[in-house]
Amino acid sequence: MIRLDAVRVTLDGTEILHGVDLMVEAGSWVTIIGPNGAGKSTLLRAVGGLLPFDGSVTLEGTPLARLRRRERARLVATVPQTPVVPPGMSVLDYVLLGRTPFIPALGRESARDLAAAAAVLDRLDLGGFAGRALDTLSGGERQRAFLARALAQEATILLLDEPTSALDIGHQQEVLDLVDELRRDHGLTVLATMHDLSIAGEYAERLVLLSAGRVAAAGPPREVLTESLLADHYHARVRVIDSPDGPLIVPLRARPS
Ligand code: ADP
Ligand code: MG
Repeated sequence: MIRLDAVRVTLDGTEILHGVDLMVEAGSWVTIIGPNGAGKSTLLRAVGGLLPFDGSVTLEGTPLARLRRRERARLVATVPQTPVVPPGMSVLDYVLLGRTPFIPALGRESARDLAAAAAVLDRLDLGGFAGRALDTLSGGERQRAFLARALAQEATILLLDEPTSALDIGHQQEVLDLVDELRRDHGLTVLATMHDLSIAGEYAERLVLLSAGRVAAAGPPREVLTESLLADHYHARVRVIDSPDGPLIVPLRARPS
């Protein structure tokens, strides 16, 4: 469970998040949408304990500020928007980075760490890539490796910052279906950000529209993906088509006059 109360973040003297309240029930999937610069990545980084904030963030009922690094790593794993790719590092070593919080300083990974990494590689169909350098993988394979590193951490909360932005439509579905499967099998709580609004609405139980550092709307996809909200906050011309799978967002070009 993730809970934010009046979260404010200031970066370089500019307030980026202006008091965000948010609740993600255990085992559910919430996706944050919103225009570029709205503060989506900043919000995820605050929840992941990666930057200072005012207000409160609680994970599974415990205030983030009270968690030690190792306890926090057991609760929350993050896939950042643009993960650092260490040159030449093998996929296995990269996935083992997810185990770092559990390896003592100056220690080596244990059999337990290696088993966790191997299980995740297997699950993501990356077994055959274990010895390959991460920087030689295709965009889709690399995205799976980023996810694998986070999953190897075996945290109960997964923070995904635009996990599919580099992927074609088939690989997008593959990654999102897998996350949803893990959520259902292991009760993971998922908080993601996403730009594709139709896909965002298909996978999340609730959407949060973040605009200029504030929550502009929150609720089931049908309540958030409306033509008027999208026009107001994205300055976009869109048609929203209701379908059995959820609202489909169609961008409309301007008519030449
Ligand atoms: P989003 O992920 O919604 O596109 P971000 O959370 O990345 O937005 O950024 C929100 C705002 O914060 C943007 O205006 C961005 O320029 C600003 N910002 C991000 N990082 C910093 C920083 N280190 N210093 C100052 N401003 C920042
Ligand atoms: Mg971002």
